[in-house]
Amino acid sequence: RGQRHRDCLKIMAEKIVAVKGMNDILPGDSAHWEWLEGKVRSLMARYAYRNIRTPIVEPTALFVRGLGEVTDIVEKEMYSFTDRLNGEQLTLRPESTAGVVRAVAEHSLLYDGGKRLYYMGPMFRHERPQRGRYRQFHQIGAEALGFGGPEVDAELILLAHALWKSLGLQDVALELNSLGQPAERQAHRAALIAHWELHADCLDEEAQRRLHTNPLRLLDTKNPAMQSAAESAPKLIDFLGEASLAHFNAVRRILDANGVPYQLNPRLVRGMDYYNLTVFEFTTTQLGAQGTLCGGGRYDYLIEQIGGKPAPAVGWALGVERVLDILGAQQLLPGKPALDAYAVVTDVAMLPQVAHTLERLRDLGVSVQMHAATGAGEAMGSMKSQFKKADASGAAFALIFGTDELARGCVTVKSLRDGQGQQVEHELAHVATWAGTLQSTT
Ligand code: ATP
Ligand code: MG
Repeated sequence: RGQRHRDCLKIMAEKIVAVKGMNDILPGDSAHWEWLEGKVRSLMARYAYRNIRTPIVEPTALFVRGLGEVTDIVEKEMYSFTDRLNGEQLTLRPESTAGVVRAVAEHSLLYDGGKRLYYMGPMFRHERPQRGRYRQFHQIGAEALGFGGPEVDAELILLAHALWKSLGLQDVALELNSLGQPAERQAHRAALIAHWELHADCLDEEAQRRLHTNPLRLLDTKNPAMQSAAESAPKLIDFLGEASLAHFNAVRRILDANGVPYQLNPRLVRGMDYYNLTVFEFTTTQLGAQGTLCGGGRYDYLIEQIGGKPAPAVGWALGVERVLDILGAQQLLPGKPALDAYAVVTDVAMLPQVAHTLERLRDLGVSVQMHAATGAGEAMGSMKSQFKKADASGAAFALIFGTDELARGCVTVKSLRDGQGQQVEHELAHVATWAGTLQSTT
């Protein structure tokens, strides 16, 4: 019995760790996330895009119908489950465009004209975890719904381009293609199947399976044996009609006029079935195999595909982990956030008075970290150990709430950054007159 009890305790004490491929974002890193999100928010505001927040769980059918049955995501990457209460088929969202489109249709958001929207949040795909590829990852996306003209395709590309610029990112290239309209793709598809059939001997198992269901996807192959056949395959651009070409050229002219460089890539097809006309990706050579930072395009048929009133739309999504990764590699991430002051407290009896002063300082916009005891009922620690903590905190000043000072109604403010540790005594009764001297300019 004793042994069994011990075994039991051992099992109970087994450390529980995060799910594979799903990461904690810890302080330090999270500061970078908030910084990036802040940059995005202010940029979105300048382009008149407004925030939308949709559920993380959606009906599975939304993705099966929206993304297409023969796609990597729907075939093998979705976290799907049955709701145990009512048997509904549900899925953790693998991307957000389908959810945004569902919300827009469900709430008839387009009744008074097009909408420009953006979102940020976690997505879930059951992939093999590696650098730049996780099972819970985060996207920031922008979608413009109810606009059919090339100027909105271009606007979204300019928006992403402006984001890289505002972050200072180097080595981001834009690849551009047009997928045309469904009838044009149909004609191209027939030619493509004929081409692949001529090169049947080089097709791998997956390619053979997809040859008739999704021959376009074969162009996106990572299998070297199929590369040369992929390169010589008929190009969709040669099947585009006048209207599609005009749309494409109009997008290009706006990009040209704004000095946005791009590479035409006739093999760029994207992973979801819902795209038509313009598609694009921003890539970098600095992240190894996971070099795509952002991808998007036009999806004029998605809304009706999931049961909404037909309306054109275009959008993109970027991978936050990958963008932060390259920002780090290019040393563009901000340093530790500034802390104005660290409060050193020698006597626990003084805590109510100290806390009151700190609250007033915070009201006045000063950031203050208060020293705190490690355990319940423990002393605050020596002055020496508290000063060590104050130094490590990165604060510009230490506020010394000593017994003598407090008795005089004062606090000593010591500079931690001027190299000399200059000290000034201030009266607590007149916090507002000196609070400003603590505030950093950053
Ligand atoms: P990839 O070809 O790398 O699998 P994708 O075409 O599946 O990308 P999208 O669905 O277009 O990617 O998603 C947009 C962006 O989201 C990608 O360009 C990438 O930056 C990011 N992303 C996609 N999947 C992951 C993932 N599993 N982990 C981290 N980021 C991802
Ligand atoms: Mg993928």
